[in-house]
Amino acid sequence: MALLVQKYGGTSLGSIKRIKAVAEKIKSSKEKGDDLVVVVSAMGHQTDELTKLAAEITLDPPRREMDMLLSTGEQVSISLLTMALNELGTPAVSLTGTQAGIITESVHGRARILEIRTKRIKNLLGQGKTIVIAGFQGTSLGIGGIDEITTLGRGGSDTSAVALAASLEASRCEIYTDVPGVLTTDPRIVKNAKLMKSISCDEMLELASLGAAVLHPRAVEIARNFGVTLVVKSSWEDLNGTTLTSKKNHIFSEGGIEHRSPVDGLELVENQAVIALSNIPDRPGIAAELFESLSKGGVNVDLIIQATHQINSNDITFTISEKELDNALTQSEKLINSIGGEISSQSGLTKLSIYGSGIMGRPGIASSLFQTLYDSGINIRLIATSEVKVSCVIDEQLGKKALRNVGEVFKLSDKQITLNPTNENNNEPAVRGIALDKDQIQISVKNVPDKPGTASKICSILAEKNISLDTIVQSERKQQENTKDISFTLKKNDRSDAKYALEELISNWKGAKLEEGESIARVSAVGSGMPFTKGTAGKIFRALANQKINIEMIATSEIRTTCIISEKHGEKALNTLHTCFELGVNKS
Ligand code: ADP
Ligand code: ASP
Ligand code: MG
Repeated sequence: MALLVQKYGGTSLGSIKRIKAVAEKIKSSKEKGDDLVVVVSAMGHQTDELTKLAAEITLDPPRREMDMLLSTGEQVSISLLTMALNELGTPAVSLTGTQAGIITESVHGRARILEIRTKRIKNLLGQGKTIVIAGFQGTSLGIGGIDEITTLGRGGSDTSAVALAASLEASRCEIYTDVPGVLTTDPRIVKNAKLMKSISCDEMLELASLGAAVLHPRAVEIARNFGVTLVVKSSWEDLNGTTLTSKKNHIFSEGGIEHRSPVDGLELVENQAVIALSNIPDRPGIAAELFESLSKGGVNVDLIIQATHQINSNDITFTISEKELDNALTQSEKLINSIGGEISSQSGLTKLSIYGSGIMGRPGIASSLFQTLYDSGINIRLIATSEVKVSCVIDEQLGKKALRNVGEVFKLSDKQITLNPTNENNNEPAVRGIALDKDQIQISVKNVPDKPGTASKICSILAEKNISLDTIVQSERKQQENTKDISFTLKKNDRSDAKYALEELISNWKGAKLEEGESIARVSAVGSGMPFTKGTAGKIFRALANQKINIEMIATSEIRTTCIISEKHGEKALNTLHTCFELGVNKS
């Protein structure tokens, strides 16, 4: 007999009729002979409704009281679903997060799961009961022995389900939702989005964090770390859905379910070069022209960064392998000759990266990497961040020293450190999915001192407030008095905390100021074949330029290219990129 964990989302439980239909579905799974643990979300939009009620009283509700309020949503659905199951003759019992033994850290609003004390669940399973557990909530052990109800963050019941599957060593975890599985993009915005039969956890982690709400990224993180077989499928139809795959064998240190060692590897890629184009015109089509001509010239570009423009001009910086420098310079100079601007290049660089799914949502990790490099006297030439990786381009001569010091700080063993890894072409598509995130704002810190430690200070002051920077871009241009600009995006919710913290910091820097950009959206293309496919970036930028969409910032990581654009163009950009990579269902 197998143990299955099934999770049903809010829409699937939006009415009594739907709850009864879900009960029928659970009953038939049970009749196939499997043991079942069912995790549920609040009914329909209940969590939003409760949040609105609180907002009618205060704009700044205490996080503890919000947890008390929001956790009631799931308590309604567990009890109703359990009643419906018992009515159908399927013996069931409901449990809140606390009763199910879901222990979290003592943080309200975004607690991580530390462990699940499964004794009670196992006893009930032994009695042949189907167990219905409230997702999205747990209990902290509290200080002084006082238990508190905690919640995991919006969308967190996926995480409850996968954590239960990991702790109970379930044979699989099935996420039932209102779409047939993971699609190439959001079907609410792009009508011909196509179902994927499978997707790697790495790709899904990026997509989920960049706006694909179908899975909570932390659920993917747990599936990837514990090897949980995770399937996303429709609540309405009996179809196969999408299976998440994880190929890599990760090495982990001991720790809680969501509190394992956040970094599980470190690598150094030598022989890198950077080309920086500055003061180039800020208009659609420039990035497209540059990266198209590079790919036509046979150059494979790695990281790309475009800084915020100042009065109608832009800086674009990219990295390539050193042996491609001459060729890349020739192509870039041709462009500069026709559009104007300056060009500079530097070889003898190395790319140091830390990786691990635990980097996600823990801003302190990137900040301690920057701090370690600063303490080692190493200047960071360029930063690229993704959900699972932070890369810094630094002077090659200091590479080995950086490797040693960073390895020590993150307590990595020799086995977890790789010099010049050889990534094999996996023949995966360059772009598998596109995501849109409208939940971000853009902030620039202008005229900050251009010396080691500046980025590290900005990140660490925000990390102290648990604020993650999603896209970090340092401008190339040196300004008067040796200053530069650093731009980044962060979640809208974190805006006031971030501004408050940053204002205090920059008051120490003469002439520095904060600037908030216009409303933005992030559109991202993700695919594990991206590092092996020349011309992907050019294709993305060209497609956006053809629609006259100006790109304000560009940031890439290995398997993703993100463009920051004006919010009003978000949906058009999503549709454009989806069509450009022919990801949709063929309508013929
Ligand atoms: P649930 O209530 O079941 O947890 P969610 O609303 O959290 O459901 O997630 C499902 C929704 O995610 C879908 O209705 C869809 O609009 C949205 N979505 C966004 N991107 C994707 C994608 N790439 N694939 C599938 N659904 C997506
Ligand atoms: N009910 C919670 C929310 O709406 C958790 C979830 O649905 O996963 O965010
Ligand atoms: Mg959800």
